[in-house]
Formats: sequence, structure tokens, C-alpha cells
Amino acid sequence: MKTYQKFTLITVILGLIIPLLGLFIYFFVNSIIGIPILGLFLGGALLIGILIIAINVAGLVVAFKIKNTKIVGIALIGCGAALFLAVQFLAIPGLILFVIAGILALKEKNPSYNLKERNPEYDSTQEDGVVCLNCQAMNLKNSIFCNKCGQKI
Ligand SMILES: [Zn+2]
Repeated sequence: MKTYQKFTLITVILGLIIPLLGLFIYFFVNSIIGIPILGLFLGGALLIGILIIAINVAGLVVAFKIKNTKIVGIALIGCGAALFLAVQFLAIPGLILFVIAGILALKEKNPSYNLKERNPEYDSTQEDGVVCLNCQAMNLKNSIFCNKCGQKI
């Protein structure tokens, strides 16, 4: 799991627990006091609760399903902004966490870059590669044919 994915997971777990806990306390307090203000706020509280859950689930799906880390980063920061629009100042911890996760995703190297770095053509000091007897090119450990001259290794 990538760092930004771990961070998103933590953000989402916190983002789901806090509103659920808030709603629970809200219902609990109302059931003790017994004042029928519950009906007045229930609609709005439920709507915000659903909105928070939707934003967090969206963030989770983005972080784990989309491979392009640039898109993930921007989308995660977008989730933070959406959270702020939904619950304003209560969302500041979530907003900060989402922005950090987004920045981590933006800093993450793309898989294609990693593949390039691992390619023996770009890294002649690779330890577990195999040298071609024909042209001395470095090849991946389990290569059957040389990537440079095509000879069987
Ligand atoms: Zn070769």
C-alpha cells in the first residue's frame, strides 16, 4: 500500500467515525432530554451525515481505484474542499488530512516511472540482472531473449 493510500484510509476512517459518533451523541442526548428538537434538526443532520459519508467513500475509491497519482492527488484535495463546503469549520481536520493525502499522492512517482527505473537499460548496476553473452547488455533476471540484440540468453 502506498503512503498516500494509507493516509487516505486513516482520513476516511476518522471521517466516518466522527460524524457517526456525533450523530449517536446527538440522538443519545435528545433521548435523555426528551425535547422534540430532534425532528427539527434531524433532516439537516442526516443530510450532512450522508454527504460526509459519500465524500469519504469517494475519496477512498479514488485513492485505491485510480492509478494516475496526479488525478488522485487533485481529487483528494477536491474531497477535502467538498467536505469543507458540507460541514464548514467542523471539517477542518478532515480538510487538512485530505489535502496532505492529496499532496502525498501528487508527490508519488507514477508506476510508469518506476518501471523505467527498474528497466536494466536504464540501470546497468542492477544486481539481479543477467548479462547477454553476445552483446554484454543487461537484461532482467528471468529474461529468455536479450532486450538489445534478441539473442537467446
Ligand atoms: Zn544481447
